[in-house]
Amino acid sequence: MTKNLAPETVAAQAGGAIDEVTGGIVPPLHVTTTFLRDPDNQYRKGYSYGRPDNATVRQVEAVLAELEGGAAGVVMGSGMSAATSAFLALERPAHVVAPRVMYWGLRQWLQEDAPSLGIEATFVDAADPDAIRAAMRPGHTQLVWIETPANPLWTITDVEEAARIAHAVGAVLAVDATVPTPVLMNPIALGADVVMHSATKYLNGHSDVVAGALVFRARDTHCERAVRLRAMLGTVLGPFEAALLLRGLRTLNVRVRHQSTSALTLARHFAQHPGIEAVLYPGLATHPGHVVAARQMRGGFGGMLSVRVAGGEAAAIATAANVKLWKRATSLGGVESLIEHRASIEGPSSPCPSNLLRLSVGLEAAADLIGDLEQALGAR
Ligand code: PLP
Repeated sequence: MTKNLAPETVAAQAGGAIDEVTGGIVPPLHVTTTFLRDPDNQYRKGYSYGRPDNATVRQVEAVLAELEGGAAGVVMGSGMSAATSAFLALERPAHVVAPRVMYWGLRQWLQEDAPSLGIEATFVDAADPDAIRAAMRPGHTQLVWIETPANPLWTITDVEEAARIAHAVGAVLAVDATVPTPVLMNPIALGADVVMHSATKYLNGHSDVVAGALVFRARDTHCERAVRLRAMLGTVLGPFEAALLLRGLRTLNVRVRHQSTSALTLARHFAQHPGIEAVLYPGLATHPGHVVAARQMRGGFGGMLSVRVAGGEAAAIATAANVKLWKRATSLGGVESLIEHRASIEGPSSPCPSNLLRLSVGLEAAADLIGDLEQALGAR
């Protein structure tokens, strides 16, 4: 595709790939696991076997690399396989710095599994650059991991500042940008070296694919080691899922912008509601990360917010029990709105307050979502 096109153009045309054989404007799905060798024993077409990668994954990678302004995309079978690969691809032993407020599954892996693999994590309040700075061990810290806005409090980290802190000791900055997506934030343009996505969420957007991606600023050693790990461990995304993901990406811009606008409407509405103790959403001026978020995000603050229900944990669980339109389910970023009592899934080690409900705003009318949550709060 012609370079320097707007991201929505790149996404809408899925990078411009067409079927060279038929002229089809949707690229074909190649399901083959193996490829013919040339008579002289070469693989000149660039494919030999389906475990390292596949043609549809390469198309998704090209689109994501372009949307993120990176040199290489690496698409995998889940967000967790992508995230853990970013750590496992480091020279070990490795010291890393990670936020206290982050996707709980990855925090759990860093706490419980990574130490035996030679990865030691120091957890910090990533909203505070001084706390990140204080955790750095020059000569030992290889990677700083941040997530912004971060699950489930939507804590904001200043990406430019985090990049400066990481680079000052020769570490890389990796950003879980699942929630902002490249529509609202480009971490590489802000100084990050690696961007990670749970493509299960907004990138696919229809709650029917589990997938993940890393996008690297440069095709460097870290990137090559992640690619090698994927080939060795077989964590590549299959072609069927990759085709669905490529289709989902075509509508990414309109979905994320709509969800972001609706989330702001809901946040403003429930900030005034007597049944709600607090609304956590970086788009509200009352959110501690609002100023930084407004600087580093563009066109919105994302489709995720949390509410703390007045009356405590029992009231929050009862509210979730009473919704009729919202779906009571984990995950986020799909076209249907989801509500979740987050502490129930994160367990006692979580920084998540017990009266918090996490809301993933879908594509329904904001008025319908507000009406349903109002009746659920009234019925508890
Ligand atoms: N990062 C964030 C912000 C997430 O919300 C999730 C999943 O909930 C993940 C990473 C992990 O992704 P996956 O479930 O695709 O492995």
